[in-house]
Amino acid sequence: MEKGRCAMFTTEVKVKALPVREWLDRYCFPGKFLDACKACPDYGRVWSCPPGVPEAEALLGRCRTAYLIGVKVCYRPADLARALRSQEEAEAVRQGTYGVAKKALLEALLALEERCPGSITVAAGRCEQCAGCTRTQGLPCRKPERMRYSFSAFGFDLTALAREQLDLDLLWAGRGLPPYNAALAAFLTR
Ligand code: SF4
Repeated sequence: MEKGRCAMFTTEVKVKALPVREWLDRYCFPGKFLDACKACPDYGRVWSCPPGVPEAEALLGRCRTAYLIGVKVCYRPADLARALRSQEEAEAVRQGTYGVAKKALLEALLALEERCPGSITVAAGRCEQCAGCTRTQGLPCRKPERMRYSFSAFGFDLTALAREQLDLDLLWAGRGLPPYNAALAAFLTR
């Protein structure tokens, strides 16, 4: 486990390698999470999310090893208190901390892809590379070479995956922010 610190948050990074076959068989259930997906505000509004995402088996099943990466972004008490003030404050804290870590993770994995022919990145959450996704206007993706599908878009049981493979609980808060948020991504190699 690696630990890092910056002005507003600390991070813990956990990585675990898993055979892709086991990863798909144990944790991928296309269809099971479809209703939850449809209830998400990003459904049909971002190209990295359903509908229209390739089947996990077809896209990912040709790889051999999945490196699961969990980045735990721990909030400072002062930021947790700020996040309780309003939804907007919570989102501002999240974007300035978790959002920064998520972007750094994607950049690192895109750079790694360049060095590993045939590798595939499964991104932590929806694509946020543009201020607004062109999908809402019915236009093609602006940066298809940098867009990677969201982990949850494939129908993975992320709660079980994170807990069993990375010893990491995914947290949510009814109000404000939980003590930490975790960005969960995967890097697949042939
Ligand atoms: S790169 Fe831009 S247009 Fe493409 S999915 Fe991401 S946000 Fe949408």
